[in-house]
Amino acid sequence: SRCFEKGKRRWNTIKSISVVIPVFNEEKSVPILYSRLKFVLNKLKIRYEIIFVDDGSTDKTLVNLKSITNKDSNVKIVSFLKNLGKAEAYAAGFNQATGDYILTMDGDLQDAPEDIPLFIRKSKEKRYDLICGWKKSKHKGNLINQILSKLFNKILTLFSGIKFHDFNCPYRLMKKEAAKQLNIYGGLYRYIPILLYLEGYTNICEMPIRNSKRRYGKSKYRFSKFYSGLFDLITVIFIKNYLKKPLHFFGTIGFFCL
Ligand code: UDP
Ligand code: MG
Repeated sequence: SRCFEKGKRRWNTIKSISVVIPVFNEEKSVPILYSRLKFVLNKLKIRYEIIFVDDGSTDKTLVNLKSITNKDSNVKIVSFLKNLGKAEAYAAGFNQATGDYILTMDGDLQDAPEDIPLFIRKSKEKRYDLICGWKKSKHKGNLINQILSKLFNKILTLFSGIKFHDFNCPYRLMKKEAAKQLNIYGGLYRYIPILLYLEGYTNICEMPIRNSKRRYGKSKYRFSKFYSGLFDLITVIFIKNYLKKPLHFFGTIGFFCL
């Protein structure tokens, strides 16, 4: 048992992380985010890389990123010619990542880099596949949006069995192999915890983090995307469960019609 304990402790130490940050027109946030990240990551004493995915920005985001990578070899840029969306940005970032663990966060300073040590500390509890942030006190604008988002999370809990309050929180730490296995597009990035769970990565948890107001630039959040993302999710579940036995789905409907 002592051996096991030793082994366990070794497993629980994260050796390297890749921080993946999608950015679309965040010229003002990027330099501040970078310097705050550097400060926090340097103190952690683990190997790290920061991967900025420029999602076709039309402002000075890319220029600012390049001036960072000129001086810092721990920073990588992936750049899209046009705006492809956050899921594609994640996928490209995960593809480049080399760390044991991948940490995703937004590039608009709404996720505080100073919370990274919380994730690292949490990961020492056990070998989580995914640690998902939970914005306990949200700055999500109007009341209707807040109610809808609460309702949405409740529905997702009911349907997936995962007791999360904030499925959509972009601040997440996950095993590299788990992230690389994801095949996300469109609105699917919102359902990463569920998609991982369906793949068998069931060792997941939620952890309260702080949430700041957006300081610069504009939010690209649109509620209509939420619905299209919901259809994406239904598609994935259908493909996973019924692609090889469609009659189990259509047959049931047909049987009752008959
Ligand atoms: N983002 C992106 N591509 C897009 C839209 C957004 O890479 O098409 C990035 C954006 O720069 C930010 C993060 O995704 O770093 C979250 O976007 P936003 O703040 O607009 O979403 P909200 O926080 O309002 O939900
Ligand atoms: Mg934001």
